[in-house]
Amino acid sequence: MTDSTEIPPVGPQHAKINLMGLSRLQMEQFFLDLGEKKFRAHQILKWIHHAGITQIEEMSNLGKALRGKLMEVAEVRPPEIVSQQDSSDGTRKWAIRVEGGGLVEAVLIPAGNRATLCVSSQVGCALDCSFCSTGKQGFQRDLSAAEIIGQVWLAIESYDGFKPGDRRIVTNVVMMGMGEPLLNFDNVVAAMDLMLEDLAYGLSKRRVTLSTSGVVPALDRLAEVSEVSLAVSLHAPNDALRNQLVPINRKYPIAVLLESCRNYMAAQSDKNRVVTIEYTLIEGVNDQRDQALELAELLRDVPCKINLIPFNTFAQSEYQRPSGNAVSRFWQVLIDAGYIVTIRTTRGDDINAACGQLVGEVVDRTSRSSRYRAATDAQIISVG
Ligand code: SAH
Ligand code: SF4
Repeated sequence: MTDSTEIPPVGPQHAKINLMGLSRLQMEQFFLDLGEKKFRAHQILKWIHHAGITQIEEMSNLGKALRGKLMEVAEVRPPEIVSQQDSSDGTRKWAIRVEGGGLVEAVLIPAGNRATLCVSSQVGCALDCSFCSTGKQGFQRDLSAAEIIGQVWLAIESYDGFKPGDRRIVTNVVMMGMGEPLLNFDNVVAAMDLMLEDLAYGLSKRRVTLSTSGVVPALDRLAEVSEVSLAVSLHAPNDALRNQLVPINRKYPIAVLLESCRNYMAAQSDKNRVVTIEYTLIEGVNDQRDQALELAELLRDVPCKINLIPFNTFAQSEYQRPSGNAVSRFWQVLIDAGYIVTIRTTRGDDINAACGQLVGEVVDRTSRSSRYRAATDAQIISVG
């Protein structure tokens, strides 16, 4: 948990502070600064994240005077859904407009009695991995904590609604949408605190996963403030290849990254946890038998499981997804070496919601967002 109680500055466009993104400690500080008791923070957290209420005047147990005082300085503002698409397999994707006009996507993937929400942390990404469509967009800006946790709020509200008790649709969250979460450290940590917080979403630390391409100093810091599950985007068994696929490897090579992963695991109170090694399989690039053997050797002393992700194609990429046989062959080598290995099944492919396809058509970003805007305007017009 973070012990930061610093409250984010109020943005220029909105004079009022957005309470949606305040962690429990920040909310307590906010109420103390207002001259109010701490328990008021707990009441409002429950209104927002348990009951889905955003209108302060509806928060009946706060008392009229306090509600009036709050409405002068604060508001609860979720991000805005611009469009929603449903896949034939039950996956639902939202395009979400964030302040300043950028677009991000969140994807809910139901499977049996669980539903995993894939959350974005930045508009675009600066790290430019060669196989990732988000990377092709470049970096626009960090999301605020309210915009990050707001994706969880919106998904619940839009999919199934807020229900009494903890029967909310989202059971797991993965920080695997657009952006590199560790490059937006404070906001991501505040949002993840709310995911774990009983007064908000109350998810167990095993059910909230941060995925990183390997920003080592930030990963070392994360070990000090958070206990979420860790996934690392490795994608190559050696530095020569990883330098090409994941350019940040030139700064923090594999040995340094794996050492940081080991330290993260060692810092956890539960010593049985493992890091998930993500390995996107790209035909003819990193899917050969020798590379599987090299990977097995590399991970020998890392407490891990391996998740193989067959590459998802997108318009600007010349890479291909390997055949099913090539994926099975790679998997078998790792299984024979004694690893726990899963193969990520592609979900939501028909709505471009699979990994790496978020905001997939990036050739002309401006025209794309104006298309979205046109779509929203059309909705507004048709409603009006
Ligand atoms: N920036 C973070 C989290 C977002 S990417 C990271 O890189 O880990 C989430 C996962 O999807 C990462 O493992 C990423 O490498 C993978 N990914 C990106 N593009 C992909 C593609 N086109 N096909 C398959 N997986 C992809
Ligand atoms: Fe950024 Fe992750 Fe995509 Fe790399 S894979 S460009 S780190 S979002």
